[in-house]
Amino acid sequence: MILFKQAQALQKYLQKYRAQNKVIGFVPTMGALHAGHLSLLEASRKKCDVSVCSIFVNPVQFNNADDLSAYPRTIEEDVQLLEKNGCDILFWPDEQEIYPDARSKSRHYDLGYLETIFEGAFRPGHFQGVCMVVERLLDIVAPDYLFMGQKDYQQCMVIRKLMEESGKKNTQLVICPITREESGLAMSSRNKRLNEEERAVAPLLYKELAHIAGNFNGNNFAMLKKESLARLASSGFRVEYLDLAEADTLQPVVHMKAGEKGVIVIAAFLGKVRLIDNYQLSI
Ligand code: AMP
Repeated sequence: MILFKQAQALQKYLQKYRAQNKVIGFVPTMGALHAGHLSLLEASRKKCDVSVCSIFVNPVQFNNADDLSAYPRTIEEDVQLLEKNGCDILFWPDEQEIYPDARSKSRHYDLGYLETIFEGAFRPGHFQGVCMVVERLLDIVAPDYLFMGQKDYQQCMVIRKLMEESGKKNTQLVICPITREESGLAMSSRNKRLNEEERAVAPLLYKELAHIAGNFNGNNFAMLKKESLARLASSGFRVEYLDLAEADTLQPVVHMKAGEKGVIVIAAFLGKVRLIDNYQLSI
């Protein structure tokens, strides 16, 4: 694996592959890598000739300074994991490399409805920061395929919109399924911040999604939600949202008919750690 700190050097190196018509796959991450990230790398390795991963804890997507400073940073383990799992290139830039000037940190993206709901509503500015970093990284790497996780369902929709609107026609977005622990808990770098007690109750988040999906008859979401919220609260979760939305647009859904596709989305705090998850369903 080759490590690059500088965008220009990476671009020059990738040109060599592009000249040979090699297919380039890209997996952007914030590090503290786990099996979820590695599943994206595996998907890239299957589809592409060259796989590039990036590790950059993007300050402008954090709407909470404590969350940014507490975000786990485990670069040595990350490098080992990437190497062991066949990553060809790691891009590990400093902030200056991604945001060389004030202007590059203050772009605005018109995300419309997508920014007014769920993560957009509870984390003001978050998706603006995500778009800034992803657009910059796509400009640098210019991959044929971009691999992202369904774990961040709304983020995938935001990036799809960004790519459509910024004319990134040569890159195709590939959305990979959620990797879960045996308990059902969605893997997340933030899980590292859970204490032992919180770790033990965290899988309830997924269990409630699966319970709702398993008992949903198209009309009873409100009742199932109420029951789940009560169970989650009594186990110590502070739920920010638990909602059913249309899978392609994230518009709210009250009733669902056969053939329609929905997604249940949830965000909840367990102690100081904010967890998100989602579950796609149809009836
Ligand atoms: P992050 O490092 O949290 O920014 O995540 C980097 C990429 O990994 C994003 O596209 C995430 O959606 C994806 N990802 C994070 N957790 C998982 C998971 N449990 N399963 C699959 N993909 C994931």
